[in-house]
Amino acid sequence: MKIKTEQISLPLLNDKQVRVFIKRLDKTHKYISGNKWYKLKYNFLEAKRKEARTILTFGGAFSNHIAATAFLAKEEGFNTIGIIRGEEHNPLNPTLSFAKKQGMKLRYLNRDAYRLKNTNNYLNQLKKEFDNIYLIPEGGTNKLAIKGTAEIINDNDQQDYVCCAVGTGGTISGIINSAHENQKILGFPIIKGKNILQKEIEKWTNKNCWKLINNYHCGGYAKLSDKLITTINGFYEVFQIPLDGIYTGKMVLGVLDLIRQNYFPKGSSILLIHTGGIQGNIGLNQRFGLKLPTS
Ligand SMILES: *Cc1c(COP(=O)(O)O)cnc(C)c1O
Repeated sequence: MKIKTEQISLPLLNDKQVRVFIKRLDKTHKYISGNKWYKLKYNFLEAKRKEARTILTFGGAFSNHIAATAFLAKEEGFNTIGIIRGEEHNPLNPTLSFAKKQGMKLRYLNRDAYRLKNTNNYLNQLKKEFDNIYLIPEGGTNKLAIKGTAEIINDNDQQDYVCCAVGTGGTISGIINSAHENQKILGFPIIKGKNILQKEIEKWTNKNCWKLINNYHCGGYAKLSDKLITTINGFYEVFQIPLDGIYTGKMVLGVLDLIRQNYFPKGSSILLIHTGGIQGNIGLNQRFGLKLPTS
């Protein structure tokens, strides 16, 4: 797959003498946008190899992973079950109604039960109920996902820094694993709780060319600050590149702020990984009365 990388220009970047590029994974596919396609690719091959009939996975109500899994499963002829964190709200939000339209069966777990979702009891119960399940963990991060996300960057991506948003850490782990010798990888977590993420990523990689920048989560998952909203809308106005409010907007907010603070040495080149997620903006707009770009 050929993914387009665009250079962006802004007076700020000239002033600071840095060059910024954005790799448009958001353009990979209308529904399986961004990093989720890479995370699912080898998992679906494995599910086929194991002759599974049903893909079972987990996520929150705005989850891009849920939407992508539902779509790909339909394309590939699997049944799907999505275990959703929280109570059912009707009408369904755009993410869940999309997933349901693809044929995904939705089950809801309240937050306490959801925390226990990985215990054997619950999984065994599901395995009895549905035959031949292939299980993909929350956010889609497992060993095969990281094999896939290692394909996000390659030898053509020679920038000094590669930046991406971090949810469960699967995407950055693959990127770290395929980074070349002098490249630095910066991750921007979109949730609080840095120690857990740090350890999670260390499980998937043994390199140390990476760093998590923890000041740009804007309060947590699906929490938006005014500065974030301004950044997303401004970015769209200037470049016609949509950013999502949950992930990529926070990463771009962070990178631009670091540029202002002279974090990057003069002459540096920076690659932003646009990991997609635009479908989530439809739900955020509805919920918060915003006008974030949706395509
Ligand atoms: C899921 C997602 C991420 C985070 O990926 P992880 O592998 O969970 O860290 C980043 N950006 C977007 C748009 C996503 O949907």
